[in-house]
Amino acid sequence: MDWNDTPAQAAFHAEVARFIGARLSEAHRDGSVGAGMLSWYRHRRAPDATLRAAAEDWAAALVERGWVAPHWPREYGGAGLSTWEQFIFNEEMARAHAPMVGGSGVVMLGPTLIVHGSEEQKQRYLPQTLSGATAWAQDYSERGAGSGLASLQMRAVRGGDEYVFNGQKIWTSSAHFADALFVLVRTDPNAPKHRGISFVLVEDIETPGLMVHPLIDAAWGHEMNETFFEDVRISAANIVGKVNRGWYVGMTLLDFERSGISDAVGQRRSFGELAAVACSDACSVLGRNPHLRERLADRAIAIEVAYNFSLRVASVPTAGMVSNHEVSVAKMFSSEHGQELHRVGVRTFGLFGQLWPGDVEAPLRGAHIEGYIRLIPSTIGGGSSEIQRNIITTRGLGLPRG
Ligand SMILES: Cc1cc2nc3c(=O)[nH]c(=O)nc-3n(C[C@H](O)[C@H](O)[C@H](O)COP(=O)(O)OP(=O)(O)OC[C@H]3O[C@@H](n4cnc5c(N)ncnc54)[C@H](O)[C@@H]3O)c2cc1C
Repeated sequence: MDWNDTPAQAAFHAEVARFIGARLSEAHRDGSVGAGMLSWYRHRRAPDATLRAAAEDWAAALVERGWVAPHWPREYGGAGLSTWEQFIFNEEMARAHAPMVGGSGVVMLGPTLIVHGSEEQKQRYLPQTLSGATAWAQDYSERGAGSGLASLQMRAVRGGDEYVFNGQKIWTSSAHFADALFVLVRTDPNAPKHRGISFVLVEDIETPGLMVHPLIDAAWGHEMNETFFEDVRISAANIVGKVNRGWYVGMTLLDFERSGISDAVGQRRSFGELAAVACSDACSVLGRNPHLRERLADRAIAIEVAYNFSLRVASVPTAGMVSNHEVSVAKMFSSEHGQELHRVGVRTFGLFGQLWPGDVEAPLRGAHIEGYIRLIPSTIGGGSSEIQRNIITTRGLGLPRG
């Protein structure tokens, strides 16, 4: 097998890199660790007008080029790129710290609507998601229903053409920047638990009775929220797929959530910087330390494995769906290795390794201590490592359920 780019792939790399270089302003690049697609959510609502304008310009550039949604079919306004072109596109975006416009609406909800939504829902929601006008947030988890999501309790009761929602959700990323939510809710409490759930679009986060409360994380960041529903009335037309069959819609969406490549590219960049320090003359003591050499060698291998798992995920989509045990392998490996990479980065610099970004003496701009803290939840969000292992053993290896 030839691992090198074909001339066409190399030309596409160059085309995407040129486009990003010409159209993305420095202000809108986000170099912080683990920022992922959050920077689009943040910047479009930033108090700073320059940042808001930079976010708008970047969204307009991607819309104009037709590259907001590389993985959506052309008939729905996507770029219709082949899986290899998507991989290259995502790789160049991650390399340049270029924010993904549309956030979870483009990455997860859009492809799910294309598979499960009615024609009316596609016509109504896909264009506003694609233009960046509507930012969505995922409202699945509850206090007693994370890994065991099918135990969710939030109720929606039919009354005429509407459902009345009552209950609470938790860990909703970016809800404080979002315009709308996609929610899993119990519509039949008497059915077996997977069969009494519906997938619903709450198209206005300002709907009366719906409240968003902040959750502050261990790095003093605000990325997650709790949402409270008190007699919130939502049109029955907003159910995606069949009533009480939302579990399958919700699971399709999770596979799209776990299939990104940006982690592997970010890790490669981060590792490259760390290895360069250990190679430098100024740090020759570090470079000769046998423990560090051993850890760096392990991470060098893991970097390549994570990157190749991403390639594998890119090569398996069929008919608009993604194959989920490959996605679990890539997600689990990459998140666990990402944590270890930053642990090595912090330990490399001794006590200096604990200096935060912003401190002039912080090695490598404090990227590793920041990553060390910020990536703690990466083996939980999007399905914990234990759950990924369960998926790999059952769907991948065919073992019976434990
Ligand atoms: C950074 C981050 C962002 C998130 N964003 C969102 C979001 O936008 N929207 C949303 O709805 N949710 C979000 N979540 C919630 C996330 O989906 C849940 O945290 C996750 O599913 C785990 O659920 P839990 O926290 O309730 O832990 P639990 O399910 O209570 O798990 C606790 C521990 O038990 C283990 N465990 C549980 N069941 C099993 C099992 N069957 N076998 C083996 N081990 C098991 C878990 O692996 C974990 O270690 C986010 C979480 C994080 C950390």
